[in-house]
Amino acid sequence: MREFDYRRAHDVTGAVALLAADPEARFLGGGTNLVDLMKAGVERPGRLVDVRELPLDRIEPTADGGLRIGATVTNSDLAAHPEVRRRYPALTQAVLAGASGQLRNMATIGGNLLQRTRCGYFSDVSSPCNKRVPGSGCPAMAGEHHNHAVLGASDHCVATHPSDMGVPLTAFDAQVAYESPDGPGEVPLTDLYLPVGDTPHRETTLPPGALITHIGLPAAPVAARSRYRKVRERASFAFAIGSVAAALDIEDGRVREARLALGAVASRPWRARAAESVLTGAPATGATFAAAADAELAAARPLPDNGYKVTLMRNLVVSVLTELAEGDLR
Ligand SMILES: Cc1cc2nc3c(=O)[nH]c(=O)nc-3n(C[C@H](O)[C@H](O)[C@H](O)COP(=O)(O)OP(=O)(O)OC[C@H]3O[C@@H](n4cnc5c(N)ncnc54)[C@H](O)[C@@H]3O)c2cc1C
Ligand code: SF4
Repeated sequence: MREFDYRRAHDVTGAVALLAADPEARFLGGGTNLVDLMKAGVERPGRLVDVRELPLDRIEPTADGGLRIGATVTNSDLAAHPEVRRRYPALTQAVLAGASGQLRNMATIGGNLLQRTRCGYFSDVSSPCNKRVPGSGCPAMAGEHHNHAVLGASDHCVATHPSDMGVPLTAFDAQVAYESPDGPGEVPLTDLYLPVGDTPHRETTLPPGALITHIGLPAAPVAARSRYRKVRERASFAFAIGSVAAALDIEDGRVREARLALGAVASRPWRARAAESVLTGAPATGATFAAAADAELAAARPLPDNGYKVTLMRNLVVSVLTELAEGDLR
């Protein structure tokens, strides 16, 4: 591993300044992704700015009835928070479906949203990869791609975003607040990730040197009836091959409000707005749920070895919505 300078930041302004002072610096959260990538030679920062002692480790209620979640809150603390469990149960379920207890104790919210793809070519420096080395090619297109994207990809990259918690956060309209060398800013999570296009190495809309400070969760009564379901290749300690975060508010047999997001199918947590339009105002029946899934997945462009994901996601969407409609909130 390349030698690097390690700095521990104690306030937000200082953290941003420490990073800005070195063009090769990176923020260090729990290090559970970044340090692995450093060991593999994918990331070679000259300086790490440790953000874990910043005063960003609280979850607080907001005046509008939502929650403000500090960027250094650990995954474990997020999942266990009583207001998260009560008001956004799909978020707790998603966090607990990710990684292991030890990892969740280290990993932070900011780091989870900015973790890199698990595409094997990306983390193997002996392979070409447009995301790691722009213009070098995408061996996944003709090679191993069974867990790659079916929505929103391009000929230049078909990698997925691996975050579980990002899926319900997307469904619940989370906002990402940051501090940058040019001052503070905020972006909806749905706009945090750039479209892949021909620049897969550019991943977010954050300004250079931006530190994520908080995630804002607006009040969403519908989220109290939500769930997250993840499908993976083994029962624990594995990334999703497909996941769904859904919330439903049903009145007199019709859907009054629906929230739906899909995971492990695109380069970002995928807000299923086409499906939500089909659901809203329609009878809460299996036929509606299937039509909603089909509307969203009509845009799917699978590769030879990941077409199963389209069927998987259709079944997952229908199953989770049916459970919510039947009041099964286990
Ligand atoms: C074996 C294993 C299994 C896993 N399984 C899952 C899973 O099933 N589901 C899942 O969602 N995740 C999973 N993970 C990923 C894990 O949850 C992430 O590694 C973790 O959430 C990243 O958080 P971190 O704080 O450790 O980030 P770090 O590794 O510290 O940082 C990741 C990136 O974010 C940047 N960063 C960190 N904090 C900030 C900030 N506040 N502002 C700006 N940039 C920042 C860093 O510079 C770096 O680029 C798994 C990881 C491992 C190792
Ligand atoms: S899918 Fe993306 S990350 Fe994977 S090899 Fe292709 S360009 Fe690289």
